Amino acid sequence: MITIGNLMNKNEKVLLYPGTFDPITLGHLDIVKRALLLADKLIVAVAINPNKEPLFSTEERMEMIRGATSGIDKLEITSYDGLTVHFAEKVGAGFIVRGLRAISDFEMEFQMALANRRLNDDIDTIFLMPSQEYTYLNSSLVREIVRLGGNVEGIVPPNVSEMLRKKFS
Ligand code: ADP
Repeated sequence: MITIGNLMNKNEKVLLYPGTFDPITLGHLDIVKRALLLADKLIVAVAINPNKEPLFSTEERMEMIRGATSGIDKLEITSYDGLTVHFAEKVGAGFIVRGLRAISDFEMEFQMALANRRLNDDIDTIFLMPSQEYTYLNSSLVREIVRLGGNVEGIVPPNVSEMLRKKFS
């Protein structure tokens, strides 16, 4: 027999999509779009990580996500520090969403998902794959292109492109 854990938690499907989002790219937004199809409520949360020195402040990163996703009712944008799984508990999320781009993401994501499960067996990680055109894309590539004077149209939303331009001008 299997015992099914805290299903109450999963009646309203609250999904948490955590990340650094420094800055948000069209790859992240592709995952947001897919997660919205599964969620009653999707919380996109900017992780405050004292070990990373992000280009954009937490507030700027949230602002860019808001600008790229305005008008979607069941979407919330916030930030958090500490363990993702503790934040998921706090906001009543039964699922953590992560994007899987390639095999190279797998090892780290697999390890993190199992560690989170150990911390709370009632919270599952859902992996979503982006559209193929975004599988090569990550935030550090975007930062590097702009730093070297390249054009990031078509890989980040227009409001992010504008913020990047200002940051490096
Ligand atoms: P982290 O530093 O937590 O990896 P990111 O903001 O880079 O933060 O990524 C958050 C999540 O989004 C991760 O699960 C990552 O794999 C996923 N992700 C990042 N870029 C893409 C992309 N281009 N396509 C799909 N998923 C992505």
